[in-house]
Formats: sequence, structure tokens, C-alpha cells
Amino acid sequence: MFKINNNYLKLPGSYLFSTIGKKVAGFKAEHPDKKVISLGIGDVTQPLAPAVISALHKAVDEMGAAETFKGYAPELGYEFLRKAIAENDYKSRGVEIALDEIFVSDGAKSDSGNIGDIFSVDNKIAVCDPVYPVYVDANAMEGRTGIYQKEFEKWSNVIYMPCTAETDFAPELPEEEPDMIYLCFPNNPTGSTVKKAELQKWVDYALKTGAVIIYDAAYEAYISEEDVPHSIYECEGAKGCAIEIRSFSKNAGFTGTRLGFTVIPKELKSGDVSLNSLWARRHGTKFNGAPYIIQRAGEAVYSEEGRKQTKEQVAYYMNNAKIIREELKAAGYTVSGGINAPYIWLKTPDNMTSWEFFDCLLEKANVVGTPGSGFGPSGEGYFRLTAFGTYENTIEAMERIKRI
Ligand SMILES: *Cc1c(COP(=O)(O)O)cnc(C)c1O
Repeated sequence: MFKINNNYLKLPGSYLFSTIGKKVAGFKAEHPDKKVISLGIGDVTQPLAPAVISALHKAVDEMGAAETFKGYAPELGYEFLRKAIAENDYKSRGVEIALDEIFVSDGAKSDSGNIGDIFSVDNKIAVCDPVYPVYVDANAMEGRTGIYQKEFEKWSNVIYMPCTAETDFAPELPEEEPDMIYLCFPNNPTGSTVKKAELQKWVDYALKTGAVIIYDAAYEAYISEEDVPHSIYECEGAKGCAIEIRSFSKNAGFTGTRLGFTVIPKELKSGDVSLNSLWARRHGTKFNGAPYIIQRAGEAVYSEEGRKQTKEQVAYYMNNAKIIREELKAAGYTVSGGINAPYIWLKTPDNMTSWEFFDCLLEKANVVGTPGSGFGPSGEGYFRLTAFGTYENTIEAMERIKRI
């Protein structure tokens, strides 16, 4: 008789976005005349850049002719894309990444969820709190997190690193030593980031303790300040302890198009086993490549036009971020984020819980955001607004919030 993976039964229900959906649907049914503006979900709204669309059309046509048709893609991804990545994302910042250290994939969610496959189930993970839920849930499915303790909203075998106003929304080196450390900068949900010297501390810590850092840099394109590293490999020694995961979703609007990549330097080893070779084995066995047409679209993101156009999209969202930040500040809110990330993280007023503020904002301003407590217990008392809406909706949402 078959048995299931019981780890799945340990997972608490993911009520966050379904609860939000239900509350919003209920409100709309009761108030059909009200226009609800969502600054809640972390999805882009601008269409793909013209350079990307043109590359897609061209690649589609190639697929229709016998001479240019493409079947299975090379295991690591097409060389034209890996070359563009190595040149533009790394070499331009003084980092040498070899083509066979880059693994093209269908996105950062899959990679950050799957990377655990190459690590022992005995490893102890450390995560920021609040956190992008994928890291924790994926580890729970593999049996690495112990049991879920409902009263604390925490897993028994996970090291949580609180990121609150008290820590300037950055994690502090944990007291208990983790084996795997998940870091995401610029951060979803808090919109915070760390300077290079601060990230170097984590690299030094990982090298000293023999931990691996899984670095999610999905929001790298939103960095506006000098001194904030775009890649963890800008830190000395990082190739010996870090895996970097990137995505085309937020910098180029590929959330529905699907493309990302993971970098595993060959010198990253456990004893004499390189993690690069383990991931190559895993990738080759369980993944059959991102589509040719999408990899061509990804290549176009790095073209001169593509760079210019996607930069404009990021600037559009970051202008929204600035508006949200400044309007909320002017209205007396305590806000952070929104400078190197498309997320604004605000302290709920009058000691409201995250959900109380959600209800208040929905009822009084007809604006939807995301309760911070949905990202972890240290998110309680905070609230996330995204800059991914349209300019017009962002302006209107701020007008309404100011009137509360
Ligand atoms: C949006 C996001 C991603 C991107 O995931 P894709 O699967 O590439 O769309 C990865 N990590 C974080 C923290 C995100 O917010």
C-alpha cells in the first residue's frame, strides 16, 4: 500500500492570499459601487518591453521553419543567454562567473524551492522573519523543519532571524549555528536591503562556520543606492559559500513568461564534492529546460534597447514607490523600504494588528494591501504595499489613505 510524504500534512494552511481574496470579494459584494484598488500582490502590471516582444516573435517564427526549429534546450540553458548573464549581471560588476556555473530555469520560485534537494535533510535552516514563504514551506516538505508550533507560528527546527524596526529590518547573525542560511536582498516583504560591508559579514560568518548561503536576488534591478551589492559575489570569498538565485520576473515583467537562473560556483564544496555538480545532476534529471523562445526573450532583456526599456519599467514602479513612501510619511505613518525595492513596509498605526489595519484600509479607503503577519510572526504590526500598481491607481490610493 502506498504511503504519502507525511511532511505535507505538517504544513499549516496557507491562508494569507485566500483570506485576502475572500475579504475583498465580500467587501465588493456588499459595496458594488466602490472601486477597490489593490496594492497587495507582488505581481507586475506593465506589459513586456518592445525589445522582448520582438525577440519573442522572431523566435516563434524560427520554431516554424525546419532549418531553425529547436527541440530540447541544452541542459544548463542556451549559451547565448548564459553569456549575456555572465557579461551583464556579473562581469560588469567585476565578478567572473563561468558559463557552466549558470543554470537557466523557469524562475526563482522553482529554484529556491528545489535547491534543498541537494542538501541533507539533517541541515538546519535559518530564515529571516518575516520571510518569502517558499523557503520555509519547501524545506518543510523535505522534512527539514521539525513540527509546526501553532501557538508561536513557528517551526520547531528552524532558526528565525527577526527583521524589525529594532534591527533596521536586517537579520542579525544568529546565536545558534545554522547549516543553510536563506537571505533575500532587496527584501520581499520588507523592501529593506544591506550594504556591502554588512553582507560581507554574512559571507565571513558562513565561511567560518561552514554554512551555505542561499541568496535570492530577485529584486536586484530595483537597487538605487550606491554601496548596496547587486550580487553576493561582490563580497570577498562568497564563491566558497553562496548560491545566488535570480529571476526575470521583477526586472523585466516575466512573471507569466517564466525565466530565471541559479549560479553555483565550482569552488562551493562539501569536502571534495562540488555543489555545482550535484545541481547539474539534479537539473539534468528533473528539469528539461526553459523554452527556446523564452530564453531568446531573456537575451533581449540584455540588448541595448531591452536594457533601456526594462530600466524605464523599473523606474515607473519606483516612482510609485516614492509616491507611496512620501505620501504615507506626510500622513504620519512610519514607513521603510521603497528605495531599493518595490515594497513599502509600514508600521500599523495605533498599535493595530496587521489584520485590523487590513480591514480598516479596505473599509475606509477601499485599498488592499498585505498584512505583515502573513509573512511570519515578526511581521505582526506591519503592513506591505507594493509599487507594482499603475501610477493612476497609486495616486488615488494615497489620496484615499490620507483621508482616513
Ligand atoms: C517574485 C519573487 C521571486 C520570483 O519568482 P519567479 O518564480 O522567478 O517569478 C523570487 N523570490 C522572491 C523573494 C520574490 O518575491
